[in-house]
Amino acid sequence: MNDILPSESSRWEWLEGKVRALMARYAYRNIRTPIVEPTALFVRGLGEVTDIVEKEMYSFEDRLNGEQLTLRPECTAGVVRATVEHSLLYDGGKRLYYMGPMFRHERPQRGRYRQFHQIGAEALGFHGAEIDAEMILLADALWKELGLKDVQLEINSLGQPDERKKHRSALIAYLEQHSADLDEEARRRLYTNPLRILDTKNPAMQALVEGAPRLIDYLGAESLEHFNAVKAILDASGVAWRFNPRLVRGMDYYNLTVFEFVTDQLGSQGTICGGGRYDYLVEQIGGKPAPAVGWALGVERVLELVKEQGSDWSAPVPDAFAVIPDVAALPLAMSILQTLRSHGVSAQMHSPMGSGEGMGSMKSQFKKADASGARFALVFGADELARGCVLVKSLRDGTGQQSEQSLQNVADLVAALQSKS
Ligand code: ATP
Ligand code: MG
Repeated sequence: MNDILPSESSRWEWLEGKVRALMARYAYRNIRTPIVEPTALFVRGLGEVTDIVEKEMYSFEDRLNGEQLTLRPECTAGVVRATVEHSLLYDGGKRLYYMGPMFRHERPQRGRYRQFHQIGAEALGFHGAEIDAEMILLADALWKELGLKDVQLEINSLGQPDERKKHRSALIAYLEQHSADLDEEARRRLYTNPLRILDTKNPAMQALVEGAPRLIDYLGAESLEHFNAVKAILDASGVAWRFNPRLVRGMDYYNLTVFEFVTDQLGSQGTICGGGRYDYLVEQIGGKPAPAVGWALGVERVLELVKEQGSDWSAPVPDAFAVIPDVAALPLAMSILQTLRSHGVSAQMHSPMGSGEGMGSMKSQFKKADASGARFALVFGADELARGCVLVKSLRDGTGQQSEQSLQNVADLVAALQSKS
């Protein structure tokens, strides 16, 4: 679990800002659900024989009333619970998004943390392939917004439960034939959740998995049509995809379209976003049956990729840094900063760390001003103040250009401090 310090958090805020603006353009509305949910919600929702439920959940008993609770390992189950609990679908489908911390007790390593953050989108109540495609287009637009390149889209279709059943028998038969090559986990899951074996991270099992019967070969016309419709929309929008017949995803709730966005630039944790359709989850969680589709991205991994690819992100800097030669000028200077900030100027000032230093020398204040990255120093010298003015000195364009601005005319001062030079 990580502390996110100011040197990093401005990048987080930048990302969150991009996401909010994008979601608004696609008309997705924000939903915020609790971080703690009843354990049964996840066991029921995600499936008992999944990595998350078997070994990754932070579950505990509430000492005060004996309730079994879990720190959310993902947010889809919570969003569906909230949707059902508040009858959100009574007047039609809903497009929703969330951001926040998730918790999984995994072995910590690069790109894998015990508290990590997801941003996710969910569209509930829509059955058409166009929503699956919209979801993918939305994520793809986000990568473009963030300046990410080399993000590959992999897609598959998991079909419907009856189709999976037929495939399951064939898969079990195949795996039984190769039982000597199965690792312990696979052997344990052979009869409870064989599909999950295809999601193994064990390199020694890759060849076995590659030779396994493909689910796509068991899909009926309707499922294939849905899959083809998604692909046609992606093609028309110029979003490249790769069909990966072994893509199964980590939770049991998916059907039809599943997808992941992967990169080879983050080492072994290369999946930055995953999602798919989950038409049976709403009913499973106690709602009236309703189709749904969604994805979640890993914020830490996306930000690492942003750093890696150095898109045009830059840390925010103040417009102005106040240089206040004498303590006597403080009250007036601070009242002016207050006014400037209310007009949208980002203004910072130096405060000495030790006592009895006054405001510190002009030289040290200018050094601080420089280090802050501010574009202008705003100098509250006694002479200028006596004339009802301050000095605006450019710090960034190398000219050291300066001008006196009247304090009577706030609009001009604001304009000077926000000018791009
Ligand atoms: P993985 O195969 O890497 O374990 P997953 O299938 O468990 O991923 P999802 O549950 O689909 O992951 O979560 C969506 C995204 O959240 C992942 O693609 C990844 O970017 C991110 N994510 C998942 N688990 C972690 C974690 N422990 N630390 C950081 N990011 C994570
Ligand atoms: Mg996982």
